[in-house]
Amino acid sequence: MKVDLHCHSTASDGVFAPADVVARAHACGVGLLALTDHDTLDGLDEARAAAERLGMRFVNGVELSCLWGGATIHVLGYGFDRQAPALCAALEDLRLARWSRAEEIARRLAAKGMPGALEGARAIQHELGDGQNAPGRPHFAEFLLRAGHVRDRSEAFRKWLGAGKLGDVKQHWPSLEQTVATLRAAGAWVSLAHPRHYDFTRSKRRRLVSEFIAAGGQALEVVNGLQPAEQVGSLAILAREFGLLASIGSDFHAPAQWAELGLYRPLPEDLSPLWLRFSDSPPRAVH
Ligand code: AMP
Ligand code: ZN
Ligand code: FE
Ligand code: FE
Repeated sequence: MKVDLHCHSTASDGVFAPADVVARAHACGVGLLALTDHDTLDGLDEARAAAERLGMRFVNGVELSCLWGGATIHVLGYGFDRQAPALCAALEDLRLARWSRAEEIARRLAAKGMPGALEGARAIQHELGDGQNAPGRPHFAEFLLRAGHVRDRSEAFRKWLGAGKLGDVKQHWPSLEQTVATLRAAGAWVSLAHPRHYDFTRSKRRRLVSEFIAAGGQALEVVNGLQPAEQVGSLAILAREFGLLASIGSDFHAPAQWAELGLYRPLPEDLSPLWLRFSDSPPRAVH
């Protein structure tokens, strides 16, 4: 059975509504799905209902933004208690933080001769059918493309929105330690998303992994969509060495970008899959 523990809907920066993501995953042969929108649980009820209609297993998921070592890091949480007060409070802070960040991105782009970015990004969200949450960087990228400021999305990230660029506004994110603690307090299984995504040296990446474990993290996302096999291999080595569980997912946002739902490189067979633990409750968080 195919498992996909990483994907996005219009509740954050995906292009399909939560129920449509589930239907598409089902059509792609996925039997166990977690929706992991950025910093919001807004899509989970709709997605779960759709999964139940299709007889698919569904696990609550979220991808939280946080700060570590001067970079924006993503942490995945699964199977948590949605009502946990610490998680609800953290998500409300993130919701507000994403709004002030969106305003700040728009201000910075305007100062560089690209006005109207917030309105433009909001209009794109509305076109996709949702607009409850602040626009994310992919919405800004689409705005920059349509306004003719860049030739394609990848140039939008390379010049303006990617790590270390003007649109990478970090001051609003909580720490990695805080974020993992919040998820653990809500009874989540916690995986470090796409650890090769960051432009870190090997020793800095190892430090990230050991601090993630010290904070209560339990798994590494060893496979993220179609990332190069060499990266899967290096992450598998880290998972073995640190005794971490392994998670996998497509990180699907939209068709014909990155990977399709249920599509990713194979997970090395000796690793322990995180999702086999989902029926257990995670060990108590240590405070
Ligand atoms: P946000 O949560 O608003 O910061 O947006 C994060 C999302 O932006 C990621 O999930 C990716 O979809 C996208 N993204 C981040 N960096 C890049 C990049 N360098 N190229 C393309 N997409 C990116
Ligand atoms: Zn995204
Ligand atoms: Fe991510
Ligand atoms: Fe993601």
